[in-house]
Amino acid sequence: MIKTSPIQNFVSKLPNTGTTIFSLMSQMAQENSAINLAQGFPDFGMSEELISLVHKYMLKGFNQYAPMPGLLSLREKISVLAADHYGYTPNPSDEVTITCGATEACYLAVTAVVKAGDEVILFEPAFDCYATAIELCGAKPVYIQMHYPHYTIDWQKVREKITEKTRMIILNTPHNPTGSVISLHDIHELQSILAGKELFILSDEVYEHIIFDKLVHESVLRYEDLRQKSFVISSLGKSFHCTGWRIGYCIAPAHLTKEFRKVHQHNTFSVHTPTQYALAEYMEQKDHCRDLSIFFQKKRDKFLHLLAKSRFDFFPARGSYFQLASYKNISEEADIEFVTRITKEFKVAVIPVSPFYHDKRDEKIVRFCFAKKDETLEKAAEQLCKI
Ligand code: GLN
Repeated sequence: MIKTSPIQNFVSKLPNTGTTIFSLMSQMAQENSAINLAQGFPDFGMSEELISLVHKYMLKGFNQYAPMPGLLSLREKISVLAADHYGYTPNPSDEVTITCGATEACYLAVTAVVKAGDEVILFEPAFDCYATAIELCGAKPVYIQMHYPHYTIDWQKVREKITEKTRMIILNTPHNPTGSVISLHDIHELQSILAGKELFILSDEVYEHIIFDKLVHESVLRYEDLRQKSFVISSLGKSFHCTGWRIGYCIAPAHLTKEFRKVHQHNTFSVHTPTQYALAEYMEQKDHCRDLSIFFQKKRDKFLHLLAKSRFDFFPARGSYFQLASYKNISEEADIEFVTRITKEFKVAVIPVSPFYHDKRDEKIVRFCFAKKDETLEKAAEQLCKI
C-alpha cells in the first residue's frame, strides 16, 4: 500500500487572502436568482460589429500566437488614443504592451520592479489584486486610508509614510470601489512628493473614459515627470463593454516596459489573437471612447434618481461605473451580513466595502454597479427602495 504523507508545516504565502469578493458575490447572486449589481460588468450587449470582426479574423486564420508584446497595429491604436486624450504619444514598439486584462498588468508591474523587503504605498479602500502581488514579492503593503464620502488622499500622511524602503505608490483613478477621482491638486502634491525620488508609480486608470460632471481625467500620462516613473494600466474590456475578453494594456517608458515584458513573456506570453486584430480594426474607424462618459453619466443619474426614494445615503460617483452608498440609516449589521441578507431577501446583490480594507474595517458602505440596462436598474431600485 502506498503511504500518503501530507506536506507538514505548510505555511500559506498569502495567509490573509481569501476568495475575491467579486467571485463570492456573483456566485451568491446566481444561487439566489438575484439581480447582480455586485461584480462590475455590463449586462447590455456590446458592439455586434466588433464581435463580427473577431469572427472574421478567426475565419481568416489568425488563430495562432500573437506577438508577445501584443499586435503592433493594436498598440499603435492605443498610442493614438493616449495622444488624443492626454497629448502624449507613447512609442507603440517599446512603450505599450497588451496584457490579459488589467489584472495581469498590475501583477506584472509590481513583480517587475518590487523586491523583497520593499514597501508599496496604497490607498484604501483598494482594489483587491494589488496587495496580493505585493505580498508575493515578499514586500510590504503600506496602507493609507481614505474615507466616506469623498475618499480624498491625505498627502501629509503620504509624506509621513515614505521611507527608504518605499519602492512604489499605487494610484487608481477613477477609483474602484469608491468612484472618486484624482484632481489637479492631487497631481501637484504627488509631483512635489516624488521630485528627485527613485520611486515607481502604478497608475490604474481602467475607468479613464468614464468620468462625470465635466471633470477631467488626470492621467499621469499628461505629466512628463510622473510618466517617466509610471506603469499606466488600462482596459479595453471596460471601454468596449467586453470584460470577459480580458484585454488590458500597460503604457510605460521603454526601460520599464523592458522589465515588464520579461515577466509577461513567462506569464501569459501573449493575448488572444483574433480579438486584437478586431479591436485594431474597430479602433481605426473613430474614437469610440469619446461618448462613454455621457453614456454612463445617464446611467448614474438614472440610478441615483431611482435610489433617491430609498433609505440609502450617497454622494454621486465622479467616475467609474460604481456608486457607493451608506446603509447606516437602515441597519447596524456588518456589511457582509447586510449584503448577504439583501441578496437573499430582496434579490439584489451588491459589494460590501470592508474587504477592500486590510483590517476589514466596516463603515457600513456598499457598492452598486450601474453598468446595467435601464430595466435592470429599475427592477433593482424597486427592490432597494423596499429595504
Ligand atoms: N473590476 C471588477 C469589479 O470591480 C471585478 C473584476 C474581477 O472580478 N476580478 O467589480
